[in-house]
Amino acid sequence: MAEKENRYSEYGIATQAVHTGTAYDAETGAIRRPLHMANSFKLPDDLSQVNYSSTDLLMYARNGNPNQHWLEEKVAALHCAKDAIVLASGVGALHALFWTLLSSGDRVLYPCVSYMAVYRMFHELFNRKFGVDTVMVDMTDLDAVRRAITPGTRLVHIETPDNPTVGITDIEAIARIAHENGALLSVDNTFASPLNQRPLDLGADFVVEALTKFINGHGDAQGGAIISNDLETMDRIRYEAQVNVGSVISPFNAWQIFRGSVTFPLRMERINQSTLQVAQWLEGRDHVTYVSYPGLESHPGHALAEKQMHGGYGGVISFCVDTDDKTVERFCAQLKVISFAVSLGHDESLIFPQPSYDERILLYPEVFRKGFIRFSIGLEEPEDIIRDLDQALKAVGL
Ligand SMILES: *Cc1c(COP(=O)(O)O)cnc(C)c1O
Repeated sequence: MAEKENRYSEYGIATQAVHTGTAYDAETGAIRRPLHMANSFKLPDDLSQVNYSSTDLLMYARNGNPNQHWLEEKVAALHCAKDAIVLASGVGALHALFWTLLSSGDRVLYPCVSYMAVYRMFHELFNRKFGVDTVMVDMTDLDAVRRAITPGTRLVHIETPDNPTVGITDIEAIARIAHENGALLSVDNTFASPLNQRPLDLGADFVVEALTKFINGHGDAQGGAIISNDLETMDRIRYEAQVNVGSVISPFNAWQIFRGSVTFPLRMERINQSTLQVAQWLEGRDHVTYVSYPGLESHPGHALAEKQMHGGYGGVISFCVDTDDKTVERFCAQLKVISFAVSLGHDESLIFPQPSYDERILLYPEVFRKGFIRFSIGLEEPEDIIRDLDQALKAVGL
């Protein structure tokens, strides 16, 4: 496919979030593009021209649908990138990228702390099923990355800030190490979002966003995106993973995420501010043993985050409470404003504890091994969020 059109590229991100990817509807003049809930499209009279694995021709929804394409224009614009592919979920996007880039015998480096499905794909699936050499590395330790990388390494995958410990990895430095060794770099940017961090500008080759989170922002749709300036590989991903594996987004989900994304910069600004305020409060609260948020000076990655992030530090905090797993659960159940549920980046604040028996907790830095909680800050008044945390801690005797 050709580079995505962006008639608003010289404008600011909030203007692009409003205007890129939309237009007057050609048929009706409506000021919104329509939702096309169709899975097939009129074929050309001359069928010899049709390539059934192509994504250029609107033919069948798995090869592409208009709502997907319009959302791709918007997501590419948010990253100042040439191209984006929107798929059914964040994990669908991660899988499409890995599936296309990796073959048996290739080496991939992946982080100790990452999204659960990335851990599963590399810890037990791609290695056992396809003979990919998957190597877990502490990506916050550049010497460890240098030791693990070999000339045969195909891909380095990182996540920054990472889920769930909110650790920071140096994108520019890892891009340099990867490229010196002939490897590509992909970055899961979901926690930062494109308002706060654009990894392509820092040397990454591919970015993945779970659109389900901050970009949609309303907790009502699932989607994911791969963003890149490498048009040739993006077309390979369309062919190998989208058309022939099929993790396509439904037009309705694409339409919903498009709608949510219009207010994304505004919401994210507010979330950046509230999250810093809540993190500062938590840091001063008795019985809170550790707070991880890159906006705090106490965060080991604070200086690095200041260098590679702009705008703010995102909407997720992780923190630890000096108590046992059962009391953490009771604390979460006492909350009235904050919802006790998985996911993040919604309009409502969401809290999700990770119990001490979780198999991955030993991979995290020591401080996270007791009373660990991941917390996504929403659009409520920050004072109400703080009041809610305080009353629920008190309700369980903390
Ligand atoms: C949620 C999330 C994903 C996966 O997105 P889904 O839409 O749930 O598949 C990937 N990476 C990170 C960092 C996430 O938080």
